Amino acid sequence: MKIETEVVVVGAGPCGIFQVFELGLLDIKCDVVDSLRGVGGQCSTLYADKPIYDIPGYPVVGAQQLVDLLQEQSSPFEPRYHLGQQVTHVTKRNGRFDVVTSSGTEFDAGAIVIAGGLGAFDARPLRTPGASKYEGVNLHYKVENKEKFRDKNVAILGGGDSALDWVLELYSIAKTVVLVHRREEFRAQPASVQKMKSLAEKGDGRLTYHIGRIPKIIEKNGQLVGIQVVSFEDESEQEILFDDILAFYGLSPNLGPIAEWGLEIDKRMIAVETEKYQTNTPGIFAIGDIVTYPGKKKLILSGFHEAAMAAFGIQNYLYPEIKQRLQFTTTSPALHKKLKVDGTL
Ligand code: FAD
Repeated sequence: MKIETEVVVVGAGPCGIFQVFELGLLDIKCDVVDSLRGVGGQCSTLYADKPIYDIPGYPVVGAQQLVDLLQEQSSPFEPRYHLGQQVTHVTKRNGRFDVVTSSGTEFDAGAIVIAGGLGAFDARPLRTPGASKYEGVNLHYKVENKEKFRDKNVAILGGGDSALDWVLELYSIAKTVVLVHRREEFRAQPASVQKMKSLAEKGDGRLTYHIGRIPKIIEKNGQLVGIQVVSFEDESEQEILFDDILAFYGLSPNLGPIAEWGLEIDKRMIAVETEKYQTNTPGIFAIGDIVTYPGKKKLILSGFHEAAMAAFGIQNYLYPEIKQRLQFTTTSPALHKKLKVDGTL
């Protein structure tokens, strides 16, 4: 059954979440879809613990903390989140939009806001020749069920938080864990790196790590059984054998299905005008990192401004009869409906 809604917001990054709030102030309800399983976009996925210093009013705020605060701020407007599904199709019909997701959820929406950031995140692959044919067999880019690795010999590639988190997590259930990273410096939290190193120093062979490049995979009877690691220091070669290998080389941007929706695209970004942040298709608006216009800066605070402007554009698109008056939050009737007697939300 189709979900009828005023607005579908594509993307639950910081700008998509703030869009919910800005639309809420104008009494417009929305459904938010994200291909990731959680909200927060780049903030939660790429740098959850990093401090941010350029959010007005917050001398410093953690990236995940900002996402949590944005959710709290928009929650009075009761957005419906549809996570773990990508918006694949958008079709205009009589001024409204049919929106379909990869899980088969269908919406009949009055307008759309694309807050897709870097697009759909794709895992950066292991580029060693021959490796790609084992993707989804025993070469993995994400962990869907960690039990799959119980009592297995596991190799983990990468030096960021994802790689280190999974090294420490799988250490307790896998038979052995080998970490391979390309350089001495790790990008992960120092505490995780320290913990990994001290477990490796125990010397019981359950956790080891190597620094080097991976020029070759090792195959046996048509199966991927290992990799060759060549040390940068002395060019020595080592064969690492495993049952499963997990590569965490980060996520790369990919516009994905958005590129097929008939929108004007400029260098893999959506072109918008800067009055309403509307695309070349009336009724489809776009904000945040995914848009381009003269002077665009990929900053969260720029996305917040764009969300405010787009909300007015959307109100005008959906309800042209409404005379638009700027309401401060202190006078917004929509917000006041949500306030508790003590003035808090
Ligand atoms: P994103 O955060 O990228 O979120 C977009 C969401 O849309 C994603 O969750 C994605 O899964 C989803 N999506 C995309 N396509 C689809 C689809 N078809 N269907 C469903 N979902 C889809 N900015 C600052 O202002 N200050 C900083 O200090 C700062 N530090 C940064 C540090 C790092 C390491 C990085 C990588 C970025 C930093 N930024 C910073 C930039 C900031 O994170 C981005 O400007 C911001 O995340 C953009 O928000 P967004 O909501 O537009 O997109």
